[in-house]
Amino acid sequence: MHPTKRCITFTDKKSIGEVKLLGKWDIHTYPVKSIKRVRLVRKADGYYCQFAVDVEVKSEHRTGDGELGLDVGLEFFYSDSSGHHQENPRFLRKAEKAIKHAQRQIYKKEKGKNNRRKARRRYAKKHLRVSRQRSEHAKRLARCVCKANALVAYEDLNVKGMVKNHRLAKSINDVAWTLFRCWLEYFARKFNTTVVAVNPRMTSQKCSDCGAIVKKSLSTRTHKCNCGCEIQRDTNAAINILNLAKARDGQSRSNATGVGTATLLGASLVEQVAT
Ligand SMILES: [Zn+2]
Repeated sequence: MHPTKRCITFTDKKSIGEVKLLGKWDIHTYPVKSIKRVRLVRKADGYYCQFAVDVEVKSEHRTGDGELGLDVGLEFFYSDSSGHHQENPRFLRKAEKAIKHAQRQIYKKEKGKNNRRKARRRYAKKHLRVSRQRSEHAKRLARCVCKANALVAYEDLNVKGMVKNHRLAKSINDVAWTLFRCWLEYFARKFNTTVVAVNPRMTSQKCSDCGAIVKKSLSTRTHKCNCGCEIQRDTNAAINILNLAKARDGQSRSNATGVGTATLLGASLVEQVAT
């Protein structure tokens, strides 16, 4: 399959033949035997060759043994139980304008003409750029969180189905959050951190201090309880999430195992440009 590991020849019946690998990635440092799967992927800026590599994930040392609950919101990327609010990344908003512009350009060009094809390509590239930035952002945050904490609790959003009517803002956040979760589980293994997904039901209504239910609408940004507890709404939810995870600790501990993690590693390790 590889002569010098700078080329790859496909021997299946698709008659692709030999392609040259570009880029400065480190696939050649892996023995050919450890490569389990190869696939070609077409992206807006070229063809990529993905390798799924079977390797031991080296564990790293954690820098702290904290316990952290994370609440996803619209206002922030996440809010944690210690009162920190992680801002939503700016690049989305910045890119949005450029993307919209590029999209309009497509329709200005005549159908079926080269210029239109080019415009479409520029548009796709802008999208690709954002999705890469988003992925990097999620990865960076997840790494920080897992590195400093022994227990990380987050909401199991599949359970919640999320609030229905937030349209675009939410859909953007959803993607980012799903990515973030994947990376959380990946880094949890690396840093030997326990990550727990809890059912987020009532986490925003319940008082994290006394357990009373304090009804509030989405626009109420502060949690105010009769017991005297008064904190930011998302912080309150994050504390509840952490408490739920701690209550559940012991039974069904880590979610940080499974196939998802392995494939994630493979795909991210080796994205090589091929021509
Ligand atoms: Zn209370």
